[in-house]
Amino acid sequence: MICPKYGGNFSINQNCQKCNTPYSEIIADIRHDEMKRLFIKMGELMENHKSIDIEESLLACELINSSLLVPITITDDSLSVLTTKDKKGNYILLFTDKEEYDKNNNEIPARTNPFREILNLMDEHVDGFIINIASVACEIPRKYLEKYFLGDS
Ligand SMILES: [Zn+2]
Repeated sequence: MICPKYGGNFSINQNCQKCNTPYSEIIADIRHDEMKRLFIKMGELMENHKSIDIEESLLACELINSSLLVPITITDDSLSVLTTKDKKGNYILLFTDKEEYDKNNNEIPARTNPFREILNLMDEHVDGFIINIASVACEIPRKYLEKYFLGDS
């Protein structure tokens, strides 16, 4: 994992190799309050049938500068992420902070990485991301990711 502070590497229950911050502290310090504010704003706008174009592009800026929390289990040679598999599709769960992470009540230790790295989790089986599934959630579908981050492919 890459530490959001100064870009050092760190592992679960170890200190960052660069800034020496302990794992638990790095995770606890992660917050994306502006992103959460946008989720609420977008929800209100959509309820009132208003355009969310501006908020969508603001969200893209927030995302590309983010290091969100992600439940990933890594075993010997495989990596698995928590997804929501329902009739709407297969979405990877992401969280803005530890408080939101804990609301989902999973036993997996939180990991984090810059958003560019998290984008690499997208493969053909995944329809997108869902952030903060247990509260004011925001769905980030593949179409949005392609428009802002993944180019024309
Ligand atoms: Zn660090």
